[in-house]
Amino acid sequence: MTQIDEKLEAILGEVLRRNAGEPEFHQAVREVLESLGRVVAKHPAYASDALIERICEPERQIIFRIPWIDDAGQVQINRGFRVQFNSALGPYKGGIRFHPSVNIGIIKFLGFEQTFKNALTGLPIGGGKGGADFNPRGRSDREIMRFCQSFMTELFRHLGEHTDVPAGDIGVGGREIGYLFGQYKRLTNRYEAGVLTGKGLPYGGSRARKEATGFGAVYFVERMLAANSTSFEGRRVSVSGSGNVAIYTMEKILDFGGRVITCSDSNGYVVDENGIDLELVKEIKEVRRDRISEYARLKGTGVNYIDTGCIWDVPCDIAMPSATQNELTGKDARTLVKNGVVAVGEGANMPCTPEAVRIFQEAGVLFAPGKAANAGGVATSALEMQQNASRDSWTFEQTEHRLAEIMKNIHDTCAETARDYGVAGDYVQGANIAGFVRVAEAMRALGV
Ligand code: GLU
Repeated sequence: MTQIDEKLEAILGEVLRRNAGEPEFHQAVREVLESLGRVVAKHPAYASDALIERICEPERQIIFRIPWIDDAGQVQINRGFRVQFNSALGPYKGGIRFHPSVNIGIIKFLGFEQTFKNALTGLPIGGGKGGADFNPRGRSDREIMRFCQSFMTELFRHLGEHTDVPAGDIGVGGREIGYLFGQYKRLTNRYEAGVLTGKGLPYGGSRARKEATGFGAVYFVERMLAANSTSFEGRRVSVSGSGNVAIYTMEKILDFGGRVITCSDSNGYVVDENGIDLELVKEIKEVRRDRISEYARLKGTGVNYIDTGCIWDVPCDIAMPSATQNELTGKDARTLVKNGVVAVGEGANMPCTPEAVRIFQEAGVLFAPGKAANAGGVATSALEMQQNASRDSWTFEQTEHRLAEIMKNIHDTCAETARDYGVAGDYVQGANIAGFVRVAEAMRALGV
């Protein structure tokens, strides 16, 4: 172990100590710090003035109470979070997640990842993340509205188009953003469109924002495949999840000539060897807000719905985990490698465990890490902020064109950075190093 590695090891030890009981945050920090040895060896200045220590410490953490009244007239309490991680590059930017698993460690991991992801887009956005341990499942539309209003009643004082700009994440889509924006507007008496992204088109949203994360992930993987003289054409692709990211990942894979054979939700997965019927998935998830088991029920013969076992047991050429963190384990990676997977693209944030990533890389599987591959969502959020600031509204084609260009740049930046640092083909290190360098440069310029 070199001097530098020892220093990084010590920094990591301190992060673990200061953030006890937050395994996802530890995992995310460890992965980035493991990539920084080469950077610090080349540019020792990045290790001075406690720059790495500062990058690992959120600038501000807000925890608040969310009281709301359910349809039975009972008062319910949830806990809300916003971690304003890093503002060196621009206002804090990152989604809000409503899910019972949400806690401060999960939000910190997401905010940390977001900081480097946002840096990779090349756009002026800092990193943040928020959420609540609220379970939207089974809640009526009115309950969702009251919850969103209560959430914003506390959070609004910490937001602003130049301060902190949330968007959606798991459990928060267009409907929730509408209720959140309505409450922000009511409380502040300001039509400040740039304070939230992922808005609906009638009130300042951007075309292609809903599609952006999924489309962007496929653009990234397509370019990674092209760099290795192959493509999606004729490939069997497994996509996990059936939320916003998964749906538009599937759509773009079809555009590129791939065949999507699976999708899932937290209860189980479907396998449709004829290719997933995307319109039916959209109807079930976006219109009816129902479970994916409905897909098999409505399709009938030829479709399997499996609620035991694991989606990654299904043989595929390309896997795009697009559900949630740590959904693809070392065991799953071994199965996928045995079944001949050639590429893996992370649509979700950190869906592959560190062991899974190691197994893919050792087996020579092309691996696109989430903080690069799924950056299209937040990049298009930044385009939404641009449109709001100039009181403009772009066409779908214009917006998607910018998105495609940004994803190409992110891919090329990661690939070139990996090459420059002697780890050609390693997109994990390429993304971590390139993201870190951009944030670090700005932080150095801004002083301690
Ligand atoms: N939640 C998304 C992400 O993980 C989007 C964040 C945003 O648009 O601000 O990147």
